[in-house]
Amino acid sequence: MDMRELRRNYSYHGVVYEARLLFRRRSGIRLSLRRDGTLLISVPVRASLSSIDEQVAKMMAWVERQTRKRSEERERPYTYIKGQKVETNLNEEAVRAGYAEQAEEYFASRVAYFAPLMGITTPYRVKAKDMNSRVGTNSSRTKTLAFSLWLYHFSPEVIDSVVVHELAHDRVRDHSSKFYAIVLQYCPNYWELRKRIISHAYGEDNEQG
Ligand SMILES: [Zn+2]
Repeated sequence: MDMRELRRNYSYHGVVYEARLLFRRRSGIRLSLRRDGTLLISVPVRASLSSIDEQVAKMMAWVERQTRKRSEERERPYTYIKGQKVETNLNEEAVRAGYAEQAEEYFASRVAYFAPLMGITTPYRVKAKDMNSRVGTNSSRTKTLAFSLWLYHFSPEVIDSVVVHELAHDRVRDHSSKFYAIVLQYCPNYWELRKRIISHAYGEDNEQG
């Protein structure tokens, strides 16, 4: 197989596109736009440059449309909800306000899951709210577990680590080694998940730092 390759630039509406012409034993031209914006063009081995240029010129309108579409997609604003990328035009505070009810229900469902598992019978109320500097609290006086709405940006396992932490305070109020022994029993990778909170790594891909 002839593997000849040629680099060539094509300009269209004042934009220059770098292209790699790949000479192949095939008939017809096939063009693809790579993620880095360069063009990959498979062309017949014996095709002349002028006939290639002529055919590529006919494809440049498509290339321009694709390029524009991709850059629009890249620029679309997003945030994370439960560790998943969600497109939105709202700022994070507005996003959190919009998800407040859903977040509270979700936190409550995770408390309902872990409490019996951890042998905890205190009938906690669960709240989701804006909190400064903390992701969760456990009030033995009001029997309330409060979770930061900000926590709802993180993946389910990160949320679970905070739920386990706050429930563990039912057994041990302080942050002694006895306390963390309970936490680690129900959340073995607790410290790794804690790091994600500290570094604001909402998604698994850690795109938002
Ligand atoms: Zn604590």
